[in-house]
Amino acid sequence: EAIMATFVFDFSEGNKDQKDLLGGKGANLAEMVNMGLPVPPGFTISTEACKAYLKDGKSPDALRVEVTQALRKTEDQIGRHFGADKEPLLLSVRSGAKFSMPGMMETVLNVGLNDTSVQGLAEFASDERFAWDSYRRLIQMFGKTVLDIDGELFAAALDAQKAKAGVASDPELTAADHKEVVAAYKQIVLDEAGLEFPQDPRTQLNMAIEAVFNSWNTERARLYRRRERIPNDLGTAVNVMAMVFGNLGETSGTGVCFTRDPSTGHSGVYGDYLSNAQGEDVVAGIRNTLPLAELEKLDPKSYADLRAAMRQLETHYRDLCDIEFTVERGKLWMLQTRIGKRTAAAAFRVATQLVDEHLITMDEALGRVSGDQLSQLLFPHFAADSGVMPLAKGLGASPGASVGEIVFDNDGATARKEAGAKVILVRRETSPDDLPGMVASVGVLTARGGKTSHAAVVARGMGMCAVVGAEALKVDPNAKTVTVGGTVLHEGEIIAIDGATGEIFVGEVPVVDSPVMVYISEGIDAAQQAAHGDPETQDLINSVDRLLRYADGVRRLRVRANADTAEDAIRARERGAQGIGLCRTEHQFLGERRTYVEAVILAETEDERTAALDPLVPVQRQDFVELLTAMDGLPTTIRLIDPPLHEFLPDLTELSVKVAVAEAKGEEADPHELKLLAAVQRMHEANPMLGLRGVRLGLKIPGLFDLQIRAIAEATVELLGQGKRPKPEIMVPLVGSVRELQIIRDRAEKIIADVTATTGTALRIPIGCMIELPRAALTAGRIAEEAEFFSFGTNDLTQTTWGFSRDDVESAFFADYLESGVLTISPFETLDGFGVGKLVKMGVEAGRATRPGIHVGVCGEHGGDPESIHFFHAAGLDYVSCSPFRVPVARLEAGRAAV
Ligand code: ADP
Ligand code: MG
Ligand code: MG
Repeated sequence: EAIMATFVFDFSEGNKDQKDLLGGKGANLAEMVNMGLPVPPGFTISTEACKAYLKDGKSPDALRVEVTQALRKTEDQIGRHFGADKEPLLLSVRSGAKFSMPGMMETVLNVGLNDTSVQGLAEFASDERFAWDSYRRLIQMFGKTVLDIDGELFAAALDAQKAKAGVASDPELTAADHKEVVAAYKQIVLDEAGLEFPQDPRTQLNMAIEAVFNSWNTERARLYRRRERIPNDLGTAVNVMAMVFGNLGETSGTGVCFTRDPSTGHSGVYGDYLSNAQGEDVVAGIRNTLPLAELEKLDPKSYADLRAAMRQLETHYRDLCDIEFTVERGKLWMLQTRIGKRTAAAAFRVATQLVDEHLITMDEALGRVSGDQLSQLLFPHFAADSGVMPLAKGLGASPGASVGEIVFDNDGATARKEAGAKVILVRRETSPDDLPGMVASVGVLTARGGKTSHAAVVARGMGMCAVVGAEALKVDPNAKTVTVGGTVLHEGEIIAIDGATGEIFVGEVPVVDSPVMVYISEGIDAAQQAAHGDPETQDLINSVDRLLRYADGVRRLRVRANADTAEDAIRARERGAQGIGLCRTEHQFLGERRTYVEAVILAETEDERTAALDPLVPVQRQDFVELLTAMDGLPTTIRLIDPPLHEFLPDLTELSVKVAVAEAKGEEADPHELKLLAAVQRMHEANPMLGLRGVRLGLKIPGLFDLQIRAIAEATVELLGQGKRPKPEIMVPLVGSVRELQIIRDRAEKIIADVTATTGTALRIPIGCMIELPRAALTAGRIAEEAEFFSFGTNDLTQTTWGFSRDDVESAFFADYLESGVLTISPFETLDGFGVGKLVKMGVEAGRATRPGIHVGVCGEHGGDPESIHFFHAAGLDYVSCSPFRVPVARLEAGRAAV
């Protein structure tokens, strides 16, 4: 009876959209098979099998049966038998999760070789050296990745053999040498793992498969997922594929390529090739590779086939693809493809280039870039005219300008980072073991490897600055020094690296605005001028301009900024803000003016209070005149003062100590301080963030809100008198009950009417409130009777919905929560759509039911977070408000949400 496969799928059975089931690598292999490209036969073990294994601690019984079925099919396609004595079929076993994860198990190649089949392979390939080299590679990879043996032991044994044979490089080793290495490797396996290297091919295969499953949960895989916000429960697929050999002499080889340059976006021949080599020799940067164009001379036919495949893939995926391939005795094999990682600049350039080549629509182009990428382009870079000469130059592999202390390893990186330092990880080359160090660093610098090396690929993925292949560097991780010519740098010394140009500097280097930032704040002409005729920069500016303007055209969400001062407002407006969504007036009272608020709070009688408030009116009026002038013609939401008292009053303990010390010394205590102490004691709150703040303070000390409302009204009159178009909106914070708003509103209307009466100028100032308490969201229908607009304060709403104090959570338990998967990301960073978002949706609906067309926005930090912006778009909000720096990001993401 036929078994319905549930865990194992032949490459011919899948397609590129099945990444959940087959992982990224498996899905794309299947797609290439469907396209008719030459892929070695094989099959994918699904993520379902991995999940079942991880859940039960053992493979589901049906798996081995399905593997047999699939394996036989592979054997039939090739006409050879797995691990057979003669003409053996060998396999590669490769991990492949939905998202590419450098933290996972590496590949095991040549599975199926043993003491007998190695002879068969030697005969089949007419190359004994090759066969024994392949066998020793299998034991090495198997030992390291499946049996968890320290790789250094194998490397040392190989070095010992080279010394014994008196040769310098691996290819010079003979078949006899490799036989000795195999014997030494087997001994290492026996000593370290306590077992004989398994001779049964199927046992090798089963162990390798389970090792891939287990690698899902290694420390470094978990770390990578946390960093990249990849859920912990996806599991990985396993790809089992017939081996093809790039190490069968000079007509064979292996390489990687991109269909376009991943850093500039230009199409062309871009990649590395290594002849007579297998597998990871290219990626590891162990030997120096040739530029791909050289393959044309070595093997014109394979080169032409590869170019055709590249073109076919780019047409099919309509995007930049990266490709791993092998040539076996003049025949091209495609081993992997995927949508290529790229720098932020390349993402923009590639997107518009593909539009111009009529391969994608503008809507699609918008989908190919992200707000995160745009924000990377806004970072400053090193000043070209700083006069600081670079010490050395490597390849710019991932852009950014990083300055930091040199560290050489994971421990150094994490320790210095914890101590508050910025660090740059310096390595000869990186491997997945270096991930913790990379995560802790602001930049990574390697002496070896190309743009496709581990360091480069991982850094690009993480959006961190990287310079790789700086060959002049001699890195000594034991002595903790890096030497360039006569210069010796030690751990802790400051260096600066430029991930765009590849330059390395000693000491601090001044940084300047990026041309994209110039474009955002000063417009395209200024930016083109700042590009100084550099065609790539000009290209980039044009691409950003086209995509951002397109996003502005399609987005429904408007973008406002959170700005407290005229200066911030001007900056926000330059960057395209369509108003101010939140002016935090309490910020206008920090610093010197703090004492004003203090006096108001401390006033004991009506007279005292009036005396304290009076001087504030002109000060605030001037604040609002400046702010409204900066935002002339655009809506400006001014939030009435929302000071958590503890931010405005002196600290109770400090003050008590001061007074006590004075008394102990027998000194007369300062009467002002005594009065302060009494007040602070009186008003002390155990939970100030849940205490007397927002509208509660406004109701308790009425004069405070009143003076602000009067100042807003008077500022508006003054500007109207100048022929300007001020558009203030008054926003009441921390409302939980409609009655609170009603009282403030009544008073505000009286004050505004009063200003109109004295000045003869009619005013129309909308009054609305924040929705930042669960009760406000739950009763939004009632509140809308009094509110002319809503603004969701998602910071407080998150805090009060979860009951997390946002000032304490990060240190207290978030790390544990992220580790155990209670949270995949802080809800203060990305809106918790399921919980807090539900309140937002309810609030919008109920508000609109009461007051159709009520204007609704959001003004928490989430207003600048890409994922949250997509949520707000879907929830039907009218605008998001974010920090001025994030405005361009929000514009782009709001556009992306709309297409
Ligand atoms: P990674 O995810 O780290 O890129 P891969 O699974 O792609 O790991 O394997 C790494 C390398 O191993 C490939 O680039 C390729 O060169 C080599 N390799 C994998 N499978 C085969 C195969 N069937 N035949 C020959 N080489 C292979
Ligand atoms: Mg690969
Ligand atoms: Mg708030």
